[in-house]
Amino acid sequence: MNREEQLSHFFDNEKIWDVVIIGGGATGLGCAVDAASRGYSVALLEREDFAKCTSSRSTKLVHGGVRYLQKLEVDLVREALHERGIMKRNAPHLVKDQAFVISNYNYWDNILYFCGLLFYDILSFGFGYGRSRFISAGKVLHYIPTSRRSGLKGGVVYHDGQFDDSRMAINLAQTAIERGATVVNYTAAEKILHDADGKVCGVIAHDTLNNKSYELKARCVINAAGIFVDEVMSMDNTQHSRSIVPSQGTHIVLDMKFLQSDYAIMVPHTSDGRVLFAVPWHDKVVVGTTDIVRPESESEPKPLEEEIDFILSTAGLYMDPAPTRADILSVFAGQRPLAAPKKEGQNSKEVSRSHKIITSENNLITITGGKWTSYRLMAEDAINKAINIGLLPKRKCRTRSLKIHGWKPAPNLSDHLYVYGSDQEAILKIIADSPALAERLSPKYDYTAAEVIWAVREEMAQTVEDVLARRVRLLFIDAREAKNAARRVAEIIAAERGHDSAWIDTQVTTFHSIADNYIV
Ligand SMILES: Cc1cc2nc3c(=O)[nH]c(=O)nc-3n(C[C@H](O)[C@H](O)[C@H](O)COP(=O)(O)OP(=O)(O)OC[C@H]3O[C@@H](n4cnc5c(N)ncnc54)[C@H](O)[C@@H]3O)c2cc1C
Repeated sequence: MNREEQLSHFFDNEKIWDVVIIGGGATGLGCAVDAASRGYSVALLEREDFAKCTSSRSTKLVHGGVRYLQKLEVDLVREALHERGIMKRNAPHLVKDQAFVISNYNYWDNILYFCGLLFYDILSFGFGYGRSRFISAGKVLHYIPTSRRSGLKGGVVYHDGQFDDSRMAINLAQTAIERGATVVNYTAAEKILHDADGKVCGVIAHDTLNNKSYELKARCVINAAGIFVDEVMSMDNTQHSRSIVPSQGTHIVLDMKFLQSDYAIMVPHTSDGRVLFAVPWHDKVVVGTTDIVRPESESEPKPLEEEIDFILSTAGLYMDPAPTRADILSVFAGQRPLAAPKKEGQNSKEVSRSHKIITSENNLITITGGKWTSYRLMAEDAINKAINIGLLPKRKCRTRSLKIHGWKPAPNLSDHLYVYGSDQEAILKIIADSPALAERLSPKYDYTAAEVIWAVREEMAQTVEDVLARRVRLLFIDAREAKNAARRVAEIIAAERGHDSAWIDTQVTTFHSIADNYIV
């Protein structure tokens, strides 16, 4: 994943790309893997870093969506459960089985949730994780020792998947490149080009690091810009009206002492009718709830104070001791590109999570909505759409059983390097060759200088934020420690890339101001 080498593929401005993809989150990277593995020539443009926006800010679940069953969206749940199974099979180094406990405080809920989750298991037939089961109040306390005891009537255990979202995005970029795609970060689609008939025929790409522009001719352009799809649609048609609404979800990250378990907590019905998850992740607990509609799309959205208070007070009902603001190690918010509601006044809980493909009169294909779990199917549908409208010659999708870069079965989860899968040995070799690179980035965490070197050489990391937010996840795990590590990370990147001390200072200042948003 060498950025300069990838960019050199843009020098030939006579080349006609089969597919140009705008956006390097789950959806765009999925499209790049799909199209490249079918043998099309592919260029993907990401204007910031891969997964900078929504795709690094998820709840980290690979799930069918238990809550959509409540709304009887059976087809949507079946589809996601199927994809959940495929994702674990194709990226077993990143996707693991996660058991959840629903604690019930009345007998009726025991019956209701047990029946619902049996149905969930049936829908996942052939692609299941573990099986759901009813458990006694004693077992609830055994699995989740921090549960509130008074009034506890029992519970249900069910299974979903859990993963590392931005690591998955990097591995998708690597998979696409291995299949022949050209994939670059910090390169924006600035303009959409049209031919004499007004049909989309390419884009102007702007490399923001070197301030250079390239004209890319294309048979097909796919808009996978997440919460920014409307900006890109407006480049195609200035009269375009809004097709998505950003819906913001907030997560807090706490120490494991607030969960004391490998089991996750799922609260199906909070005081305002939303769902709350508390999920173990990299030896911490991520606690979050369903998102709420926001007026504007933001790539670095600020967590809302009232959401933090709501999560803390709701989590406090299920955790003992109840967490306080001082216990928050990191807080992050992400915005979901939800298909815009047809009716005015609909709220985000009511807007469908299914994905949507929109083809403009000029043949711009926009793919929006959906979720991380369905990224592969969304990509398959988008490329099939390009075939069906005659932009690409017909070729079969190959991603159902395509191993994602890093594929390695049964990882050792107690070693923090497990997320690198088959690349783990290469990182250990960096340390074996230069033992000084075993130096830790923080005395509290196992991340090493070798991982920074790896991120720069092999994963296209350009900045301190790229490394600390999306290659290693320290910013999301412990924002204060990430701030402390920033200067050392900047020095390591600078030594690798030949940057001067002014670059280091600017990077540290920039990272500190971003990290301040993750601290309450
Ligand atoms: C709070 C929250 C929790 C979630 N939890 C889960 C979960 O647990 N499991 C699950 O399956 N799903 C979850 N989701 C949904 C999932 O995260 C999203 O559906 C998915 O990440 C969207 O990916 P995307 O690629 O469409 O968008 P993004 O990740 O936002 O990617 C779009 C990219 O396009 C780039 N871009 C924009 N304009 C341009 C341009 N002009 N040129 C080049 N690039 C451009 C942006 O920089 C961005 O990186 C969650 C979502 C939210 C908000």
